[in-house]
Amino acid sequence: MTEKPEDEHPDKPWLAYSRAMVVVAHPDDAEFGFGGTLAKMVKEGMELAYVLCTNGDKGTTDPDITQEQLAAVRQREQRNASAIIGTTDVTFLGYGDGELESTREVIGKIVHEIRRFRPEIIFCQDPFNRTRHNHRDHRMAGQSTFDAVFPFARDRLHFPEHIAEGLETHKVAEIYTSMGDDPDVVIDTSDVIDISVKASQAHRSQIADPQAMEERIRGRTSELAEKNGFKYAEGFRRHTFNPGRPLHRVPLD
Ligand SMILES: [Zn+2]
Repeated sequence: MTEKPEDEHPDKPWLAYSRAMVVVAHPDDAEFGFGGTLAKMVKEGMELAYVLCTNGDKGTTDPDITQEQLAAVRQREQRNASAIIGTTDVTFLGYGDGELESTREVIGKIVHEIRRFRPEIIFCQDPFNRTRHNHRDHRMAGQSTFDAVFPFARDRLHFPEHIAEGLETHKVAEIYTSMGDDPDVVIDTSDVIDISVKASQAHRSQIADPQAMEERIRGRTSELAEKNGFKYAEGFRRHTFNPGRPLHRVPLD
């Protein structure tokens, strides 16, 4: 892990890290939810990897496309979107859209990617949000990611087959969750808004009107930004993992 002290960047704690991973349920969730932040991390020199839990094979109103065809289209769109954000490290776990459960198998696959890529910070969907309904796959992906980070990726007797294949245990320092209640970290995405829009538009099968999509992204990210003195911004809840205190919510001030 990078040993830069966190207080070096009190307003930008993520700058202490050099490796970020995003784990989401569906192709497009990352870009539609927080593509600006991911582009920003890459721009600031971070290595980035994607994990997609499902293949998004139900996301269509077209009666002529099969699930297999749609899964292939969405995989291609996701690779394009991730390349625009700035990475080719994209892993598809391949579960059916709407069929994700937080099982030992799913957790094990996420643990495998954590032990392979060794991220210090993970971005995922908020499994704890209690104020509005969230897609079942999003809840399952978020919950599985938290469980994968603590304690499974950390302990060598969990999924020992990973150790046998040459991977090591790994401690993730922080998780940032999106789609949750009041954000306590706001990231200025003004300088990467064009990348964010372009990456979202790469999910062509999911967008009826690219222009309207751009306006929606700019509108949504400017609302939160205004309150914080930025032009565009994305918000997260920050969760830190410390020895002896496994999950610590940074208090709101
Ligand atoms: Zn989704």
